[in-house]
Amino acid sequence: MGYDELWRRSVDEPELFWAEQARLIHWETPPQRILDDSRPPFRRWFVGGTTNLCHNAIDRHLDERGDQLAIVAVSTETESTREITYRELHREVNAFAAVLVELGVGKGDRVVIYMPNIAEAVFAMLACARIGAIHSVVFGGFAAHNLALRIDDAEPVLLICADAGMRGGKVIPYKPLIDAALRETKAPPAHVLIVDRGLDPDMDRVELRDVDYNERRRRHEGANVPVTWLESNEPSYLLYTSGTTGKPKGVQRDVGGYAVALALSMTTIFDLHPGQTILCTSDVGWAVGHSYNVYGPLIGGCTAILYEGLPTAPDPGIWWRLCETYRVRTMFSSPTAIRVLKKQDASWLSRSDLSALKYIFCAGEPLDQTTYEWLSGGTGKLVVDNYWQTETGWPAVSLMPGLDLKPVRPGSPGFPTFGFRMRVIDEATGDEKAAGEKGVLVVELPLPPGCLTTIWRDDDRYVRSYFGHFKELLYSSLDWAVRDADGYLFILGRTDDVINVAGHRLGTREIEESVATLGAVAEVAVVGIGDELKGQLPAVFATLKQGVTDDPRDVAQAMERRVVELLGAVARPGCVYVVSALPKTRSGKLLRRAIQAVMEGTDPGDLSTLDDPTALEAVRRAVARGP
Ligand code: ATP
Ligand code: MG
Repeated sequence: MGYDELWRRSVDEPELFWAEQARLIHWETPPQRILDDSRPPFRRWFVGGTTNLCHNAIDRHLDERGDQLAIVAVSTETESTREITYRELHREVNAFAAVLVELGVGKGDRVVIYMPNIAEAVFAMLACARIGAIHSVVFGGFAAHNLALRIDDAEPVLLICADAGMRGGKVIPYKPLIDAALRETKAPPAHVLIVDRGLDPDMDRVELRDVDYNERRRRHEGANVPVTWLESNEPSYLLYTSGTTGKPKGVQRDVGGYAVALALSMTTIFDLHPGQTILCTSDVGWAVGHSYNVYGPLIGGCTAILYEGLPTAPDPGIWWRLCETYRVRTMFSSPTAIRVLKKQDASWLSRSDLSALKYIFCAGEPLDQTTYEWLSGGTGKLVVDNYWQTETGWPAVSLMPGLDLKPVRPGSPGFPTFGFRMRVIDEATGDEKAAGEKGVLVVELPLPPGCLTTIWRDDDRYVRSYFGHFKELLYSSLDWAVRDADGYLFILGRTDDVINVAGHRLGTREIEESVATLGAVAEVAVVGIGDELKGQLPAVFATLKQGVTDDPRDVAQAMERRVVELLGAVARPGCVYVVSALPKTRSGKLLRRAIQAVMEGTDPGDLSTLDDPTALEAVRRAVARGP
């Protein structure tokens, strides 16, 4: 069956459709009811069924693929590669689970994991899943305050960390951050379990509280910890959204629905089958990392490559070499990462043998046409844009090359995935927009399996944040979109990233796209600045590609001309700044509100997710100098 027919079934007969998909995973007790939709906007999938993510990710595969690689953890920071088979993964996760049990962790307890992108982070997640503990992975690059906020909210019994992470060859000790976070939080856990990588010889230990993982693990070598079966709708994990737009929300995921959605996505979207390999360049701290570095590939019996390091170290060919070495079939990355590579010599794309590679998926941000063309042209591979949110847990809009391949339309992630019935509606009236007209992207209820079940301990905020925008009960993505005449969806940016020029509502993305068509431009961010006459005007901030020697003033003028040429005089930028770097979140998303605050001289709000503070400084200096 092709996409059209299957998708139609998924929305017209959801219970039949998902009952069939439920067979993709192991149920200890089968679901009694496929969907309980009696209390919208809440819904429960696979009610009464019991299952376990760890069992589906590991134990279920042992007979058939015990000796197959499950995880390959590559670090260009520590210059190490660790190849782990399913059997070895089983052993490691059982030992880890035994350590957790010994520390008193049980079903329903929260465990915060603050780790670099290394194998032990995966062991820790799976060990929690095995015993029914709720993990909350906090990206290892977050600052102490960020970590403290998340600990306050999750109230974990245990924090698992490493002694240090590394970035660009520099050791970043974690322990001082953790000690600071635990001083700040109102809910410090009883224990801190430290995976000592031997990177920080000066690490302080707090007597009685801090526990050495390596030492505990030795006691539990060969342990067998029984799987704790959970009802399908019990929480599996919490994941705080990255906070591009404000205070992070504890997105709560279930067990059964998530496992089924991931299993289905592996074959239909990613066209990845048991025994095949995926390189997902995300970090386990993000939604993409949870679903496609860890749970998705393992539930699907695949091999997942985990990467710690920069995309450009030791050189910009590293990811392509990994594709060659491990015969990667599907790569999954982000536009931000690809734009980093795009700044480098394009010949890196053709130096490795990419004959096994079929697809490069990109998600997380709009994939602009120039980056798309650079990547698909340079590799000759199919580049598949896919749209999702921490909330959805898996792609909500994508092409499905595993089923049939509809032609790629650059700039569009394609069509809704299974169970997502989407509308593009008017922000004010809620009426559906015609093809070609911009509106808010919303999803009809019930949300399909895999999506968040609520916000941790805050049902009200769940209802308010996502379902309180329109008369009808609809999930609002808070993103702008437009559907073309053939049904392709284009995502035009966040509903709060809009510039109102003399009554014309312009999406920042449209302007950014037009600037990005200039060859000299590497990255661009557009924000709206107040203008007495027109209400708002676009302000353009751009970085130039490495090796570009043109006078920045000429490039700035060229940018202005290009915007007018492509979008009309209405979009003419009020000012254009060429800067050395743009502020981004740790997950690589442009932090437009921070730039906006600099322009307006206002309080930029919570900047704790800012990746590189010097980037914001660069913006500040450029603004002070004037365009
Ligand atoms: P917060 O919700 O806390 O402000 P966030 O929205 O940045 O943080 P994520 O859930 O990681 O956190 O990001 C989801 C958002 O990323 C989407 O709502 C959308 O704006 C953007 N996005 C993701 N994939 C794509 C894509 N393929 N094309 C365009 N935009 C995308
Ligand atoms: Mg969001």
